[in-house]
Amino acid sequence: MSKINKSILVKIFFLLLGIYVIILIITHSTFRSYAIEENEAKLQDLLMHNKALHTYVEGKLKPVFYKLKEQKQLQKDFFDPTVLSFTFMSRNIMYEYNKQRVSNNIEEIQYKLTSNNPRNPLNQATEQEREILKKFNNGTLKKYHKHFKKNKKDYILYAMPVTKNVLSCMRCHGDPKDAPKSLLDSYGDSAGFYENIGDIRAFISVTMPLDVELKKMYALFKIFTILLFIVFIIVYILIYYFIKKLDNKDKILIAKANKDALTKILNRHVFNKDMEDLIDATNDLKNSLMIIDIDHFKEVNDKYGHSMGDMVLVELCNRISQNIRKNDKFYRIGGEEFAILSSQTKQEDEMKFASRIKNSITETLFMNIGKITISIGITQQQDHDTYKTLFERADKALYMAKDSGRDTIIVL
Ligand code: GH3
Ligand code: MG
Ligand code: MG
Repeated sequence: MSKINKSILVKIFFLLLGIYVIILIITHSTFRSYAIEENEAKLQDLLMHNKALHTYVEGKLKPVFYKLKEQKQLQKDFFDPTVLSFTFMSRNIMYEYNKQRVSNNIEEIQYKLTSNNPRNPLNQATEQEREILKKFNNGTLKKYHKHFKKNKKDYILYAMPVTKNVLSCMRCHGDPKDAPKSLLDSYGDSAGFYENIGDIRAFISVTMPLDVELKKMYALFKIFTILLFIVFIIVYILIYYFIKKLDNKDKILIAKANKDALTKILNRHVFNKDMEDLIDATNDLKNSLMIIDIDHFKEVNDKYGHSMGDMVLVELCNRISQNIRKNDKFYRIGGEEFAILSSQTKQEDEMKFASRIKNSITETLFMNIGKITISIGITQQQDHDTYKTLFERADKALYMAKDSGRDTIIVL
């Protein structure tokens, strides 16, 4: 594969890796937010039920008891939190609810009714909770939620204000002298009294462990990570094969562009380039240039026709190709002119090599034509040689070979 295509593949690899990591970061935080939001929605629902219970107790249950008291069917001082305290009922329902959760292998939730002025000291607001209650009262906060860690476990807390104090609340939360005697007997005459109509006296909150939901989220995220990884690998493989295919096409095109159409050996264009590279290269290696020209080839064409001449050219190239060495490069540089560039040659070897090439042709019987001869000019690269001087010396050697009667090798 070409260097450019390899570097494109490396860039694509890192680009895909970057996109993969970014998608994972975004998805992870989205999945997590979704898990938290889902839980918040559950808690909100739970608290709405709780508030509905509050409304039911104040609006439906208590009036029945007050009526019974008015009708003297119940003692005036009757007070039993089991049927008359929303807080009591709520806590007990939550207790039963948690029992249900535990029996179903689900972790308990913490329910709390928080007040500045609670009847039960357990419900006393902390400094932070006072602030929250203040905000609920001045309307700057409608609901409150927070996500926190405790003992390395994730929890979510959701809070909602209870309904504002109405007149019916005042019997138990207003002036203690209006309160049922049994209430005063149970809780005293200070805690939970002197509230005002219209105030929010408490907020309810639930704290739920997030582990189960987060575990579900992580399991989904894991699957997503693997699927996305597979998708990216497939995309990368497809890109790899696409680029490889393009690369192969390029190679075929380059090979085509570098080859002579008739003889399939390297063409003049590659010869020029290789000669320039040879001159530019700063090494001590001895390179040699051989130029070959067919003797009296015009006569072959004239006598046997141009297409027969073509066949001779092809056959001649096959012969020479079989006789060159591994590191030699063989070019067609003109109509019936050829060149061989050899590296690391000794001067005495050049003559041997040129003789072998010449003999391979003179010993061949070309179809219908018989024997042909070639003339060879050969020279070794010298210090300070340019493309021009090197080529001209080889050409001069060829000219001398022609001049000396052809079928000859001249070394210059
Ligand atoms: P010499 O080199 O010995 O002086 O004589 P020559 O007859 O070979 O002379 P020259 O090299 O000048 O002639 C080249 C001839 O090669 C002319 C042309 O008809 C022929 N030729 C060039 N290209 C092709 C080709 O692609 N196919 C064929 N059949 N002939 C070609
Ligand atoms: Mg010629
Ligand atoms: Mg010729």
